[in-house]
Amino acid sequence: MENVLEGLVTFQKEIFTKKKALFGSLSKQQKPSVLLVTCSDSRIDPSLLTQTDPGDLFIIRNAGNLIPTYGSAMGGSTATIEYGVSVLQVKDIIVCGHTDCGAMKGLLHPEKLQELPAVKAWLQHAETTVRMVKDHCAHLKGEKLFAAAIRENVLVQLDHLKTHPAVATRLRKGDLRLHGWVYSIGTGDVWVYDEEKKDFVNPSKRRKKSGK
Ligand code: ZN
Repeated sequence: MENVLEGLVTFQKEIFTKKKALFGSLSKQQKPSVLLVTCSDSRIDPSLLTQTDPGDLFIIRNAGNLIPTYGSAMGGSTATIEYGVSVLQVKDIIVCGHTDCGAMKGLLHPEKLQELPAVKAWLQHAETTVRMVKDHCAHLKGEKLFAAAIRENVLVQLDHLKTHPAVATRLRKGDLRLHGWVYSIGTGDVWVYDEEKKDFVNPSKRRKKSGK
């Protein structure tokens, strides 16, 4: 906790002063253009990863970056999606999974969740992920199976997002885009789902290859 309190002092003394104008304008309103749904995992730092400022990202975080289908849990996530999409009018929604995700480990090994009833119940919002992995990834084992589950879960949660009326109407109008990402903690890479290729691709690798 010491480092957290020290950080607070540094923020107020140094960082806030440098960005005073930004915080001044943010004190009256927010206009984020992106809603980011990601895991609560401490190793993900959305603002650092995307190099964005306060006010840029509207964020939902929970174990496993799950999005309950509309009506299945009228809780915080659903309300936050509704507000972000209908009121703040975000233009893009990113669902960002990550490597070494504890929630995804739990999905693959439910026997380890006996003492964690709340986690077990929450992970029911990823039941489709479990079924998809069982049906389509039966040939995979170990790390490959784990990686497939992480990717599949991002796609499943994007489907769940589409069940939310606020999202569905904006998609029909064509002024909202959905994106699936998987962040690799160990390498800093972000794999992005490509609708045409039906696979996750790494745009930074392509940029490096083409010399850009
Ligand atoms: Zn996670």
